[in-house]
Amino acid sequence: MIIDFHVHLAAREHLEPIAAEFCDSFWDGRGDWDALLRPQAFDAYLEREGVDYAVGLPEISPRVTGVTTNEYVRERFGGCRRLILFANLNPWVTPRPDQEVRRLADQGFRGLKLYPTYQHFYPNARELYPLYAACQELGWPVMVHTGSSVFRGAKLKFGDPLFLDEVAVDFPDLTLLMVHGGRGFWYDRAAFLAGLHPNLYLEVSGLPPKKLLEYFPDLERIHRKVVFGSDWPGNPGIRANVEAIRRLPLSEPAKRAILGENAARILGLEAGP
Ligand SMILES: [Zn+2]
Repeated sequence: MIIDFHVHLAAREHLEPIAAEFCDSFWDGRGDWDALLRPQAFDAYLEREGVDYAVGLPEISPRVTGVTTNEYVRERFGGCRRLILFANLNPWVTPRPDQEVRRLADQGFRGLKLYPTYQHFYPNARELYPLYAACQELGWPVMVHTGSSVFRGAKLKFGDPLFLDEVAVDFPDLTLLMVHGGRGFWYDRAAFLAGLHPNLYLEVSGLPPKKLLEYFPDLERIHRKVVFGSDWPGNPGIRANVEAIRRLPLSEPAKRAILGENAARILGLEAGP
């Protein structure tokens, strides 16, 4: 099973120009990513790319990348067989995020993504603890952006994976993913933390697959704690990423775990779509 844990569902019209241009830069001469963002077209695209399931993401970051609401994502993509929808909550916009996640769970969302670097909050802020408690109770995995970003307005200090150490200690049954694996200057601490906390995972979207062993020399040892993601459309070919991971000098069980088995366990998926 191949699972892509990180696909953005923002239409071009939702994005700030800098973010739209960033996506376009990967697609030069390869078609129009925005045209693929139709329910049936996207399911067919994932099938062509060899992806069984993908986690689809909204994003409410008005000061940096743009606004793609939970409502838009649910209305447009709720019927996609291959998409598992995660919600986003911006704690500055949603005063009682713990109540909001329960409402979103009733609507079919299956997890949460947080963007501390774009929404400017510390992931271990006490104000977020009721939200984490609600996610833990719902069995919702929580993805948290860690590491660098090229977008103007991002504040990198909020992306330190070390903040998730405290959250993992205080919510031992909550599944947490360090998105982008602490990209840039925190690879070592992200890998260490993934090895330390049973429910804290390293998610490798937005990183060149052929560099993964350079960034994470311990990848084989911690392979049950590593999850593949593409960061589509900031990356035109999901299949090419999967193939690049298959070419790494890792054991077959490690490749299967990273490309799908770990995600299937986190998401509670047993069979294909
Ligand atoms: Zn992303």
